[in-house]
Order: sequence, then C-alpha cells, then structure tokens
Amino acid sequence: MPPHLVEMTAITKSYTVGYGRLPVLRKVNLTIRQGEFVAVMGPSGSGKSTMLHILGCLDRPDSGSYLLDGRDILAATDSELSQTRARRIGFVFQTFNLIHNLSVKENVELPFLYHAAQNGDGETRILSAIEQVGLAGRIAHKPYQLSGGEMQRAAIARAIATDPRLLLADEPTGNLDSSTGREILDLFETLNDAGATIVMVTHNQDVAGRAGRVMTLNDGRFA
Ligand code: ADP
Ligand code: MG
Repeated sequence: MPPHLVEMTAITKSYTVGYGRLPVLRKVNLTIRQGEFVAVMGPSGSGKSTMLHILGCLDRPDSGSYLLDGRDILAATDSELSQTRARRIGFVFQTFNLIHNLSVKENVELPFLYHAAQNGDGETRILSAIEQVGLAGRIAHKPYQLSGGEMQRAAIARAIATDPRLLLADEPTGNLDSSTGREILDLFETLNDAGATIVMVTHNQDVAGRAGRVMTLNDGRFA
C-alpha cells in the first residue's frame, strides 16, 4: 500500500461573523494515500472550499491534527506554511485565476518566482508541463486569446509545473461546457495515472464519479 500523504484528524474550522462563530467543519477526518484521486462533494455552503483551503495550507484549522507528508501542519510557522504551499501544493480554481497580461508560458513560470531554490531545471519543467496539458502550440498566447478549456489547461500546467505532492482543484469544470469539462477530467485522469495525487471539489455527481473515491461533506463532517 502506498503511504498516507494526508492524515487529518478531528479538524474543526469556524468563521467569525457578525453574530458570533459559524462552525463549518466539525471534527473532520480524512486520510489520502499517495496516488489517489479523491472527489469532495457536498451542497453549496457545506465547507468544500474551506476544506480544500486547509488541505492546501491556504488557511489554518482551529483545532485537530493535519499531517501532510508526515509534516505537522498545525505546528508550522507562517513561513514554513507558505514554503510547504509553494513546494508541495498545486491549485486549480473554477475561474482559472490566470494573470491576464501574461502569456501562457509566463503564467506557468509564476510559481517559480516563489520557489527560488530550484536546481536550474525550471525552464524544462515549465515547457514539459505546458506540453503535458496539450498547449505547446499556445505558449505565447495571452488568456484572452484562449478558449475556456485552454485557460483551464494553462492553469493546470501552472499547478503541476513545480511537481507538487498534492494537486487540489476547486470546481475545476464549473465554468466549462460539459464536453470541455470532460476533456479537463480526462487530463486529471491522465495525470493521476502518471502518479499525481488529486483532490477535486465538486457539487456535480457525474464529475465526482470520475474520481477513484468520493467523500461527501454534510453538516460539517464526511457522511
Ligand atoms: P462550499 O465551497 O461548500 O460552497 P465554503 O467552504 O465556501 O462552502 O463555505 C462554507 C460556509 O462558510 C458558508 O456558509 C460560507 O458562507 C462560510 N464562509 C466561508 N468563508 C468564510 C469567511 N471567510 N468568513 C465567514 N464565513 C465564511
Ligand atoms: Mg466552494
């Protein structure tokens, strides 16, 4: 059995709102093995994005335990956390989050700006990531010159270029028509076959069905 990459135990998270605290995650447990493709489902507002942000070290839980690749994430300092995020996590978002005045290649280069300690092979990795997502012919295009599916491919290239341990996607097909969405899911499947560990948030049953395992958030816990 491959080792556990993610081990979350009794993770809680609440937000401060005008009238007090809004509990979102209530003692969530989640373990993910290296090489898995997991979908996180749940109705709107059930805490899927919150869960993904905590997984990706974009946000901290209030309590519980989170080991990522054996590292104690709750004990990490802010700078350790941002290093972990830059080196070990790739993010893909529903709205692509590309920088509009940069080319595909420049967008894919971005994570390397925060990732100074590369061993000189950044350029190779950038080009190979672009090739892997099928955009070798669009390298100098700006986002506005791309279709929605191509924009998401560019965002995926940016997410995988650093060779992250964990690829996280929040509703990655939410802004795409269904056939383009299927192509993006095919790409995730190819990346997963090649060894990528993927966690994908979606509220769509068909999309979730493409993953190897489906977890459903309900009332702040996995059902
Ligand atoms: P989902 O992605 O499943 O739609 P979210 O994780 O985005 O759900 O949000 C879960 C709940 O937490 C929602 O009710 C949302 O309004 C609330 N929430 C999310 N982020 C914040 C925040 N920064 N401050 C206050 N409430 C928030
Ligand atoms: Mg969400």
